[in-house]
Amino acid sequence: MVKTTTLLLEHAFINGEWQQADTGKTFPVRNPATGDVLANVADCSALDATRAVEAAAEAFKTWRHTTAKERATILKRWFALINEHQDDIALLMTQECGKPLAESKGEVAYGGSFIEWFAEEARRVYGDVIPTNAQGRRLLASKQPIGVCTAITPWNFPLAMITRKCAPALAAGCTVVVKPAEATPLTALALAELGRQAGLPAGVFNVVPASSGKDVGAVLSEHPLVRKVSFTGSTPVGKILLKQAANTVKRVSMELGGNAPFIVFDDADIDAAVAGALASKYRNTGQTCVCTNRFLVQSGVYDRFAEALAKAVSGLKVGNGADEGVTQGPLINEAGVQKVERLVDDARNKGATVLLGGKRHALGGSFFEPTVLTNVTTNMAVAQEEIFGPVSPLFRFETEEEAIQMANDTPFGLAAYFYSRDIGRVWRVAEALEYGMVGINEGIISTEVAPFGGVKESGLGREGSRYGIEEYLDIKYMCMGGL
Ligand code: ADP
Repeated sequence: MVKTTTLLLEHAFINGEWQQADTGKTFPVRNPATGDVLANVADCSALDATRAVEAAAEAFKTWRHTTAKERATILKRWFALINEHQDDIALLMTQECGKPLAESKGEVAYGGSFIEWFAEEARRVYGDVIPTNAQGRRLLASKQPIGVCTAITPWNFPLAMITRKCAPALAAGCTVVVKPAEATPLTALALAELGRQAGLPAGVFNVVPASSGKDVGAVLSEHPLVRKVSFTGSTPVGKILLKQAANTVKRVSMELGGNAPFIVFDDADIDAAVAGALASKYRNTGQTCVCTNRFLVQSGVYDRFAEALAKAVSGLKVGNGADEGVTQGPLINEAGVQKVERLVDDARNKGATVLLGGKRHALGGSFFEPTVLTNVTTNMAVAQEEIFGPVSPLFRFETEEEAIQMANDTPFGLAAYFYSRDIGRVWRVAEALEYGMVGINEGIISTEVAPFGGVKESGLGREGSRYGIEEYLDIKYMCMGGL
């Protein structure tokens, strides 16, 4: 159990108040490493979600008129409080999602960085005076907050996926209703409490946990008072939300699934590639949407890379994320393990070699062995499906053209990585990859200062960076005549 009980909250946060669900129902939040129940959290209904949207609409009337500096001051206080409580939040996060404590601390810093960044960006939302097209007229473009925004978020980054959406929204002058993932509502509720302490006015930031996304999600994507829906999660759910949002023509941001290639060319620095591979693949036990899904390795270095990667992966320590030195926590739940098992079995049955791991871990529960597969071919399910687990499938290729063709042969387009020291190749490949983000000789690329987002079925819009706040602003054109 978490040491600091003041941040372990179980009620919904609506209109500045901690409230039970309308029905009085709760749902259990479990520690995936032990199966223990951490808390019983308010199970919000469509009615609770509607009340939260109405509160956000009421609060928008005043929040939109605050100055950017006033909003920035509150956001900076929120950022400071998050830093002050880094250890407590990190422990809560490790307990509800399983990631190693060091990674949870990293996420608190990363999640907080969006609040700091957008506090700064709030004061740089400029419009334009446009050179006129006629005498006696002046043309202006100004930016205004969209209105009530909703955020539906996943469990793999319980803090950062919320702040990456809500910080730009609040900075722009919008108000927000968040539905956190059912597996990880506790971090979201801790964040709300710190926002309250920082001085966010009632109704500006609301959190409605629920045991299933469907009913609350329908309100958050269909209610006429909601002007924007921001979602991070699976592509099938993203498509449902896009359809629901279409009825009232809402703005949308979608961060959906990926199928990240990691290309290792013959001219790569293999040691650097292995270090990048380890970080990109095994972080959060392979459960991030930008985790490498397919290693494409040129034949000249295939065996060397496979051997070096397997050696590095064998050094990972599997266990409860709260324990010292653990680098690989459990998968989020049994369904996650079953998917990984199915993909490994399918590859093995179709001729792949298990170089390392390949089965459930002796610790039981939802632990899985860090795995490396060689001789993987494109007819195996792992070529098309997002693994979301600690499995590295190594495909072989001969030419640069073949690598690009294989890398782009997917409906997804979120992150891609490649290692090469040939400057001509670096430009050719970086430009040819149909992905929103490309890591070149880098395995970890996320930062609040750069635009995060995908193309194709990986999503719409960008989060973080100076582009991130535009997603929460409408441009108003004003034409003044008779001057
Ligand atoms: P994951 O596989 O990462 O859990 P999901 O897309 O299922 O991805 O979940 C991401 C978020 O979407 C969670 O907050 C979940 O509750 C929510 N969600 C799931 N189904 C729906 C739905 N039909 N409508 C709205 N939200 C949903």
